[in-house]
Amino acid sequence: MFTLPPLPYAKNALEPHITAHTLSFHYDKHHQTYVTNLNNLIANTDFAELSLDDIIQKTAQSPAHTSIFNNAAQVWNHTFYWESMTPNGGGAPTGALNDAITRDFGSFEAFRDTFKQAALTQFGSGWAWLVLTQDKTLKIVKTSNAECPTTLSMIPLITIDVWEHAYYLDFQNRRADYTDTFLAALINWRFAESNFEKAQTTKVA
Ligand code: MN
Repeated sequence: MFTLPPLPYAKNALEPHITAHTLSFHYDKHHQTYVTNLNNLIANTDFAELSLDDIIQKTAQSPAHTSIFNNAAQVWNHTFYWESMTPNGGGAPTGALNDAITRDFGSFEAFRDTFKQAALTQFGSGWAWLVLTQDKTLKIVKTSNAECPTTLSMIPLITIDVWEHAYYLDFQNRRADYTDTFLAALINWRFAESNFEKAQTTKVA
């Protein structure tokens, strides 16, 4: 049985940018529902013995297991998203990640513009990600619905949830303002730096 991982901060810790009101739905209702649905779907199946990562890998691109994949990947994606934000976040990365961003995007500002464009142009529900690809270069990708870069041979470093439930209560239809706020005040570069460092020794499947 999977359980809802604890939020890494208090529910009001991201205010005034993302309110406790949003998190009370997004974490307590949406994320919890993915966990509950996943547990119900895998009960008494072989999947019940597997880790969350293994369930995601085994059900990705399997039409017979769409519901299990969607709920498992959404459990994973949301846990990763909470870590992608922090109170008093924003700013810029440091060290090796900063160097790699300059190398692969030209500048930090170019990274920011590309990330924002990905978040804005994801049509409908989905996610925008900074990932490390198999050839060890950084890339920005967007995914639809529950799709997760770990099933596409990429290592995620940071993500923004662009499903409307992530921002509608605080920003209504203004996804651009939500994305700007995420980049300016919430993004957790220490988390991305740590993922980048770990990825140097991770073999991508
Ligand atoms: Mn969400």
